Parts: sequence; structure tokens; C-alpha cells
Amino acid sequence: MRKPKLRELGEAIRAIVFGPYTSKFPFKPSPAAPTYRGKVEFDPDKCVLCGACVEVCPASARAQEDDLVKGIRREIYYPHKCIYCGQCVTYCTTKEGIHHSQEYDLAQITKEEGYEEVVEKELVFCERCGTVITTRAHLLWIARRAGELAYANPNLFLVLSQEYGEEAIPKASDIPPYRSEHLKFLCPTCRRSVYLNEVWGY
Ligand code: SF4
Ligand code: SF4
Repeated sequence: MRKPKLRELGEAIRAIVFGPYTSKFPFKPSPAAPTYRGKVEFDPDKCVLCGACVEVCPASARAQEDDLVKGIRREIYYPHKCIYCGQCVTYCTTKEGIHHSQEYDLAQITKEEGYEEVVEKELVFCERCGTVITTRAHLLWIARRAGELAYANPNLFLVLSQEYGEEAIPKASDIPPYRSEHLKFLCPTCRRSVYLNEVWGY
């Protein structure tokens, strides 16, 4: 019985001399640990809207929608659903599109008060059937990673050409060395069909 009393007395004296253990938050900032998984934030310049983070989110806190009229893909983050598991950060394709901040003071009265982060990027469509291929930023990111190998893939070659201002690539098949069907943005199904037609005639 005496030992706990002495320990409590020691702690009381220590608190009087050095101050209490508790922090003064919210009156004074109390920084989180460096590895703390705080508010999840996009980097709109580094995110290519590939959708990998949407696929791995276990709480449906992320969603993507394609606006076919405006030709844009939109990614939305719903913070009130987020469980701060970090899956989206770990599996981000570019490793730079999303990160945890140190911010943890996110309490709010209603979910409507919460922020909803939205990122938008231009879509690229198959020029033959109109299917969405992916975003232009995603194709560009792949092309830059592939380096010179990108020139072996027509979609990557085209997106690089347009990025460097070469918009006037001849489309007509009778203008060498280009082939009208081959040198288009095509989805995998149409690309296969075009190759089969060129090589085998069907
Ligand atoms: S931290 Fe987890 S729950 Fe939150 S958006 Fe990322 S994957 Fe979803
Ligand atoms: S680049 Fe990263 S943050 Fe952006 S959609 Fe892809 S996985 Fe998500």
C-alpha cells in the first residue's frame, strides 16, 4: 500500500515542478508523429486518375466517374467514409498522387461540413468505337516511364506526339508512312481488330 502512495506522491511533485504530462491541445499545437496517417490529400499534378486507389479502398471512400459529354474523369474523396488505412497511399501508381498529411483535427458536426476533394483530368477515347481508354495524363505517365519503348505503342506514341505539339499527323492511309487505322487512339479490342485486318485481311 505504501509503494503506490509514494509513487503517486512522486508523480505529483514531478507534475508541480515540470508541468503535467497532458498536452495543451487545442490551445497549443500538438504535432503528430512523423509516421502518423492523417488527412489524405491528393496532389492534382502528380495524380493521373488511373483508379488504382479506388480499387484498393476498403471503405468506398474514393470514387471515379467519367463525364462522357465533357470528356473528363473525376475522382472524388469522401473523408467521412475514410478509415485512414493507407491502402490508397501504398498502392498509388505514381507513388506521388496521394499522401497522408499530419493533420488530425478533422472533427465536424455533420458529414456535409466535410471537405470533398475532387480531381479532374481529360479522357482519351478510342477513335473507332468511342470507348474510354484512360486519361491523357495516365497515358503520358506510362509513355515517359517506358522511354524509347513508348514509340512501339501507337497510343503512347500519339500522346507523346501531341504533347510535343505534333498535332498534324496525316490520317489518310495513302500518305506514307502512316496508316489511317493504325495510327489512332484505339482500345485493345479495336487495336486487335485493326491488326488482324491489316495482317490477315479480316
Ligand atoms: S486511407 Fe484507406 S479508407 Fe481512406 S481513402 Fe485511402 S484506402 Fe480508402
Ligand atoms: S495516380 Fe495515385 S492517387 Fe491518382 S488515381 Fe492513380 S492511384 Fe489514385
